[in-house]
Amino acid sequence: MMIDAPVALITGASRGIGKEIALAFARDGFRLALNYHLNEAKAREVEKQTTQLGGKPLVVKADVGDSQQVQDMIQKVMKQWGRIDVLVNNAGITRDRTILKMTDAEWNEVLQTNLSGSFWCLRDCSKIMVEQKEGAILNISSIVAMRGSIGNANYAAAKAGVIALTKSAAKELGRFNVRVNAILPGFHLTDMGREVWGKYEERIRSEHTLERLTDIRELAQFVLFIAKQKSASGQVYNFESRVI
Ligand code: NAP
Repeated sequence: MMIDAPVALITGASRGIGKEIALAFARDGFRLALNYHLNEAKAREVEKQTTQLGGKPLVVKADVGDSQQVQDMIQKVMKQWGRIDVLVNNAGITRDRTILKMTDAEWNEVLQTNLSGSFWCLRDCSKIMVEQKEGAILNISSIVAMRGSIGNANYAAAKAGVIALTKSAAKELGRFNVRVNAILPGFHLTDMGREVWGKYEERIRSEHTLERLTDIRELAQFVLFIAKQKSASGQVYNFESRVI
C-alpha cells in the first residue's frame, strides 16, 4: 500500500455488498475505513481479509442513522488517514411489511438509516472533499426506487430519496470537483437478499434477462470503476439484468 494511497470510507462494510466493495477497493490499493453497526466479529473478518490484500483498514463502529455518531466516525477517519477521497454510502436495512400493517417505527427506522444516514455521511464527507477540491460519493440505492414494490414501501421511498439526494448533491457539489452518483444493484443473496429470496425466488429469476443473478464481485468492481471516473456525476447506474 502506497503511503499516499487514496482513502475510501465504506459504510456497512461488515457483510454482503459492503464487504465485497471493501475487498475490491483493498485490491486496488486504497486505504480503507470500514464502518459497521452491530456486527464487530464480521467487521474484524473483513479487516483481516483486506489486510491480507495489502490494505491497512481502520474499522469504525457507528450507527449511520445517528448524525452525532456519523460526525464522530468521520473525525476518527480523518485522525487516522487525514483525508477521504471516496465515500460509499452502502449501509442499509429493511423492515418489510405491507402499507396497511406498517408501524411508525418500521417506517421511521428504514428512513433514518437508509436516507438520513446517507445524508449525514454525504454532508459531513463532502465538507472534507470540498476542502480537498476532489472527492467521489457513491450512493447505493435499489431498483425498487424506480419500480415500487409490494411489502416494502418504506425501503422503496428511502431508496428513491437517495436518488434525489444524489442528483441534488451532484448539482451543488460539482463546482467543487466532488462527484456524486447512485448505483442500483441487482438482487444478491446477502443476509438482506435472503429474506426475500424464499418468498420471491421464481419471480426474481424470471424477471432477469440472463436468468441468473448479478455477480456480487462484478457489482463491487463496478462501484470501484465509477468511483474512479473523473467525469461522471449526477448519474444513476442500474447494474443488473432486469429490464425496467
Ligand atoms: P446486508 O447483508 O444486510 O448488510 C447490511 C450492512 O449494513 C451490514 O454491514 C450492517 O452492519 C450495515 N448496517 C445496517 N444498519 C446500519 C447502521 N444503522 N449503521 C451502520 N451500518 C449499518 O445488506 P446488503 O444486501 O449487503 O445491502 C447493502 C446495500 O445494498 C443496502 O443499502 C441495500 O439496500 C442495497 N441493496 C441490496 C440488494 C440485495 O439484493 N442484497 C439489492 C439492491 C440494493 P452490521 O453487520 O454491523 O449490522
